[in-house]
Amino acid sequence: MISQSIDKIWSSILQFSATFVTPDWGALIGLLPILLVIGVVGPIVSLLALSWLRYGAKRPRRGAKFAPETRAAALSADGNPVYPAGEPYSPRERVVYPSGATRSPSGEELVLACPKCGLVRAAVIASCGNCGLSFTLKPTTRSLRPVGPPPGGAAAA
Ligand SMILES: [Zn+2]
Repeated sequence: MISQSIDKIWSSILQFSATFVTPDWGALIGLLPILLVIGVVGPIVSLLALSWLRYGAKRPRRGAKFAPETRAAALSADGNPVYPAGEPYSPRERVVYPSGATRSPSGEELVLACPKCGLVRAAVIASCGNCGLSFTLKPTTRSLRPVGPPPGGAAAA
């Protein structure tokens, strides 16, 4: 009894959809490019957007510490690398690292020159063993600069 009525409903649905679909083939074929765009390009675009978002979410965390702010040391007239005072650098790589960095990505200990007295020490040590000047962060370095011109800065200017 129930299955019979379901059959009835089903066949009426089929009939209804048949009357609905059959005369509209031309319109449907006309819609195919749009359906293709929605069905094919849509997922591709959303996949690209997803992978781009994933890449964007991952990249800053990995790269921000070293890559974007590292730069090759400037060379003096006689071809020797010149390192700005107060900024960590790797003498082997001849690369200047952002303030606050203590190690290169390969694990090498970075060094930096004291902006006050010019003494080179390991970047991991916060204060100068010679003059006692302490700095590790960018704002501190900036506020200390007017006190005494950095030896490297004078050469670069
Ligand atoms: Zn010093």
